[in-house]
Amino acid sequence: KLLPKGGGIEFNNVNFNYTPEKTILKNVSFSVPPGKTVALVGPSGSGKSTIIKLLFRFYDVDSGSIVIDGYNIKNQVTQESLRAIIGVVPQDTVLFNQTIKYNIQYGRITAEDAEIIEAAKGADIHDRIVTFPQAYDTVVGERGLRLSGGEKQRVAIARTLLKAPTVILLDEATSALDTHTERNIQESLNKMCVNRTSVVVAHRLSTIIGADEILVLKDGEIVERGRHADL
Ligand code: ATP
Ligand code: MG
Repeated sequence: KLLPKGGGIEFNNVNFNYTPEKTILKNVSFSVPPGKTVALVGPSGSGKSTIIKLLFRFYDVDSGSIVIDGYNIKNQVTQESLRAIIGVVPQDTVLFNQTIKYNIQYGRITAEDAEIIEAAKGADIHDRIVTFPQAYDTVVGERGLRLSGGEKQRVAIARTLLKAPTVILLDEATSALDTHTERNIQESLNKMCVNRTSVVVAHRLSTIIGADEILVLKDGEIVERGRHADL
């Protein structure tokens, strides 16, 4: 069983491919001390999202290991206990065809209304939600309300704030945002990551500057690492 101690992460010589023809990650090693933030940067296709997916155990590594709090996530913890301590904000958030309330509450199904509203405020999406006639009971998705990419991501941030996980995996959206929205999202993200072990695929300079370490990926390898001032 995985105990939510500090959430320290270690990647040890990880190799991974989706198909036998092409190796995606080559000998990737890094560590994230509890409470610290590592930013992943690099060209499209370099393997950034793949690292996030491996941490959430959508796939298993081919060789090497991923260790959280001293446990190898492949064989020393259940997937359920792993996912219980991790909050993910994916690159393109897909919401459930359900109410906004359900979509936020999915982070912690027992949460009270007041906590859901507090999380939505923290993600800077509450003011938008209350403009809808049905507010939190508005159904999103194909038959319901259409939210923009940034709004969907803020719902995912609210869900993660509510869950208050030990580890945060964030795959920043690449979509262009206006300056106001960008600044609001950045504040929500900072709030979400503070004192949590975070692995962030970073596209925004402000995220990169705030990280404790930056890893530069190229063709599945870490080619450079350091703080923003050093790179
Ligand atoms: P971007 O900045 O565009 O999001 P990325 O660095 O996140 O890129 P990944 O999504 O990790 O890149 O993809 C790395 C490589 O793995 C790419 O060559 C991609 O085509 C390949 N890949 C990703 N997902 C799969 C999959 N499910 N099956 C096969 N190949 C995949
Ligand atoms: Mg990606």
